Amino acid sequence: MPITRLTKPDSKFRLDDVSTDPPRDASKQEAAERLHDLGKELLELQELMWGARTHSVLIVLQGRDAAGKDGAIKNVVGALNPRGVAVSSFGVPTKEEREHDFLWRIHRQAPRAGEFAIFNRSHYEDVLVVRVHDLEPKSRWGERYDHINDFEELLAEHGTIVIKFFLHISKKEQEERLLEREKNPSTAWKLNVNDWKEREHWDEYTEAYEDIFRRCSSKYAPWCIVPADAKWYRNLVVAETVLEAMREHRDQWLETLDRAGKAGREELEEYRRSKGVRHKG
Ligand code: AMP
Ligand code: MG
Repeated sequence: MPITRLTKPDSKFRLDDVSTDPPRDASKQEAAERLHDLGKELLELQELMWGARTHSVLIVLQGRDAAGKDGAIKNVVGALNPRGVAVSSFGVPTKEEREHDFLWRIHRQAPRAGEFAIFNRSHYEDVLVVRVHDLEPKSRWGERYDHINDFEELLAEHGTIVIKFFLHISKKEQEERLLEREKNPSTAWKLNVNDWKEREHWDEYTEAYEDIFRRCSSKYAPWCIVPADAKWYRNLVVAETVLEAMREHRDQWLETLDRAGKAGREELEEYRRSKGVRHKG
């Protein structure tokens, strides 16, 4: 599967070069089967990571309104054991949040060892909406790219597997989804005039996003640009990418668990010997 993963800064990256559609040869039917298998593997790896407690996973989801952040979260979380998964949504900062540095509210939600944290929006809003709407001077938000890189490196050094997704939809697909919400009584509660207002800034958001991808892509915290016009393909790419990142640690987790198992067994035997109990098991 050709996935666009940015693992280093690239001043030439352009969003228009990445399709919002699935590749021509991708099939929805095969994707459903594959997704089912990936779900099982994800749960398996989650159990290993939970036991080993040497790593954690941070999934960052960014995208324009109606890009499918909620749907993608539902899909990943649905495959996991909810014990050890926390979803955090970042909206307009509260007064208390505004009175701290921009990473304060974010860092508090970083995952604990063994666990998953999923961010619905993130610290990247502080170089997106803030930039597009001039909420703060450029002298302030312009410094943030470096802070973000340092922050993500710190998380990675601490054992956090950081994976960042941009759900890439076309302007036309967004319009269709927003109009669909209006027509459908069961989704009309999502209507928000702000989504249409933000849409008027489409190109400015594109520029702001491109700067992010150009400057905040690294090996320890790559960006994955997900073709998101088709939900089934979006879900497949997200699951596949998370798994790819976790698989690298599988052997190490198994070794850690094996050592823990041996240590536990020795301790138990020692205890039984001291009691003079013989026990088979
Ligand atoms: P939603 O994701 O639809 O619930 O909307 C959350 C809103 O909060 C979006 O319009 C974001 O742009 C906005 N938001 C998130 N983070 C920030 C931030 N740091 N500063 C200003 N607005 C933000
Ligand atoms: Mg919204």
